[in-house]
Order: sequence, then C-alpha cells, then structure tokens
Amino acid sequence: METYRFDVVVVGAGIAGASAAAALAADRRVAVLEAEAIAGYHTTGRSAAMWIQNYGPPDARVLTRLSRAFLVNPPGGFAEQPLVSPRAILFVARAGQERELAQMLAEGEGLREASVAEARAMVPALRADYIVAAALEEHAFDIDVAALHQGFLRQARARGAVLALSSRVVGFRRSGGQWLIETETPQARFQAPIVVNAAGAWGDVVAEMAGAAKLGLQPCRRTGVIINPAPWHVADWPVVHDVAHNWYVRPEARTRLMVTPADETPVPPHDVQPEEYDIALGIHRMQEALAINVQRVERAWAGLRTFTPDRSFAIGWDGAVEGFFWCVGQGGCGIQTSPAAGRLVADLITERDPGAAAEALPRLDPRRFGSANRQTV
Ligand SMILES: Cc1cc2nc3c(=O)[nH]c(=O)nc-3n(C[C@H](O)[C@H](O)[C@H](O)COP(=O)(O)OP(=O)(O)OC[C@H]3O[C@@H](n4cnc5c(N)ncnc54)[C@H](O)[C@@H]3O)c2cc1C
Repeated sequence: METYRFDVVVVGAGIAGASAAAALAADRRVAVLEAEAIAGYHTTGRSAAMWIQNYGPPDARVLTRLSRAFLVNPPGGFAEQPLVSPRAILFVARAGQERELAQMLAEGEGLREASVAEARAMVPALRADYIVAAALEEHAFDIDVAALHQGFLRQARARGAVLALSSRVVGFRRSGGQWLIETETPQARFQAPIVVNAAGAWGDVVAEMAGAAKLGLQPCRRTGVIINPAPWHVADWPVVHDVAHNWYVRPEARTRLMVTPADETPVPPHDVQPEEYDIALGIHRMQEALAINVQRVERAWAGLRTFTPDRSFAIGWDGAVEGFFWCVGQGGCGIQTSPAAGRLVADLITERDPGAAAEALPRLDPRRFGSANRQTV
C-alpha cells in the first residue's frame, strides 16, 4: 500500500472543501478527498445560486459581506466569465407580516422600503390582494456556482493541491502527531498532521470516524422546481422572497422561474431527492402571491442544507481532538460565504490574523458546543 504525505487533508470537495483547499494550498501541501466521482455532486451542485446580504445568521452575514469583493472582482485567471451578475431581491409581506418587514428594514444592510406600486411594476404578476409592503435589496447577485467552484478547484491544483475523486474516507488513525487516513481505495492511504472536515451533511459521520464528538449537525431537505412562467417575461425580475422565508421565486436562464417552498425537512445525510408534496407546496405558495399559471413542472431537485444546533457555522479547531478542524454547518449560505470562509480556514490553520473575519469568530468556533455536552462516539 502506498502512503501519500501532505500537510493538510481536506475531506469533501464541495464549495467548503474547495475554497479551503485553494486558500490553504498557497503555503501548505494539500490533498482533497472526495467520496463521489465528481466534485459538487451534493449540496454545492443543488443550490439557488444567490448572494443576499440580508440572509442567514450574523456570522454568515459577516462572511457574506467579506466575500463580495472576491466575487465581483476575482483574481486574474480564476474564472473565464464573471462570477456574479446583478439581481435584486424583493422581500414581500402579505397582511399580518408587516411587523416582520419593518424589523427587517430596521436591522438590514443595504435595504430600502419599496412601495406596493413599485413592487408590482417590477413584478407585474404580483397579486394586488396579496402584497401589502415590500423591501428591496438592490445590490444582490446571481452567482455562477459552477464557475466559482471550478475556480477554487483550479486554483488549488495550480498551487500544487491534489484532488482525489471517488475517494470516500472510511477510517482515521492518529499516531505520532499524524493522521493516517484510509479511503475506499485499498491501494492508497493518506497521511497529514491536520484534517479539515468539509464533508457537509456528513460532517458528524466523518467526525465520529476520527473519534471527535459530534456537533449535532442536522441536514435539512430543500426543494427547487423549474417552471415556465409564460406569458410573463421574467428575465429582469428580482428574486421575489417571502419576508417570513416560506417561499421564494428566482428567474432562471432568462425564461424560466425557480420556485421553492423553502422547505426545511430534517433528514439523515443521503443523496436526497424531491418529494411530490414539497413540489406542490412550492407551487401553491407561489400562486397565492403571483398570478402564474403552471402547466407542468419542467424539473425538480432537492439538496441538503446542513445546520449546527444554533444555526451558525462551525469553522475552527475541534479543541478535544488534536489536528481536527471543522468547516461545516453552512446551512443556506455556503456559496455566498465561500471566498471569506475558505480564507478564514487557511488563516486559522496557518495562524495568520483573520482580519475583519475575526468579528465572527466567537459565533463560528466549534468549541462553543462544548465537547463535554456533545454526543460522544
Ligand atoms: C435548494 C438549495 C438552495 C440553496 N441556495 C443557496 C444560495 O442561494 N446561496 C448560498 O450561498 N447557498 C445556498 N445553498 C446552500 C449551499 O448550497 C450550501 O451551504 C453549500 O453548498 C454547502 O457546501 P459543502 O461543501 O459544505 O457541502 P457539499 O457540497 O455537500 O460537499 C460536501 C462533500 O463532502 C463529501 N463527503 C462526505 N463524506 C465524505 C467522506 N467520508 N469522504 C470523502 N468525501 C465525503 C460529499 O460527497 C460532498 O461532495 C442552497 C442549498 C440548497 C439545497
């Protein structure tokens, strides 16, 4: 059996592992081990691809803000096309949701009130008897997730990192300050003093294998549905987002709409598929607000958004198990935060000053769950 030696082994090649590997590879020898035959098969390939400042917990908002400059102006050669394109977010309230909208306006960043007339001018399908108030985040974006994800992987490789696909990690052993990491490939094993757990929904499964206490990660199913909204021309519509996060719609490929009931069904980590009920619920909620006739569902998918018990991310050292670093729990914000999150992983591991991201550290630290209180293996 061949043993390959690195400074850091990253488990998982979704956006979390890819962005961390790209940043770490600038001054560490890095291997990324991915269970699937393609990187991005799970949650990273199933997102809604949006950058919204007013979304997610406070730590995510810090990382979202800090990611903006990279997304707008990536380093030369990172991607062949722009990573983001402008797309406003229109948060809408129906009767009974006015207080939620007022609170969002009071606490939000870069948000302004929009009149009902303005909202209906932007989205003429909005039902006059539905909307009572609205807020607009004008400077949000659509993200080209494939370009961003491939950009990180390319950058990592260009800096000497190795990406091993079809390499599910099945066991860890710690000895002499080193991890010995076994994958499903019996001929090869990997060795490194540091493991970064970027296994998404499988974060606790990977931790258990390494002898670390679980954080209590909860993967939750979310469904996306593509419909044809003709005769409406939706290319320039904003995302229309229920202020209470019960549904949203987003223009897709200029002529289609993505619809979601913003479902959040707790499930075990697996290759999740959409359920008929959630598809119907998404269309029902959308049709309460928008006068759109749905002839048929063109495509539907589901992905796992994975949360820690307090819904903030977990980025940092385990504290109890030497050389074990967490980068999990990104919930619904893992794409829009990835440039800053990847950089933060590298800064913490190489003991560099994390700069403005330091503000979020107390909320991100996995040790806040206290290994004594956590479920042990
Ligand atoms: C419908 C939907 C809409 C979303 N919309 C947005 C959005 O608009 N904006 C946004 O920022 N975020 C959004 N998200 C959230 C975002 O997609 C996630 O936060 C992000 O993709 C998580 O990335 P990850 O790398 O942690 O997980 P994943 O992409 O799931 O990657 C984890 C990887 O680890 C691998 N792995 C697991 N176990 C092992 C093992 N033992 N050995 C090796 N590899 C292993 C898996 O195969 C997987 O490839 C959305 C999510 C969904 C589902």
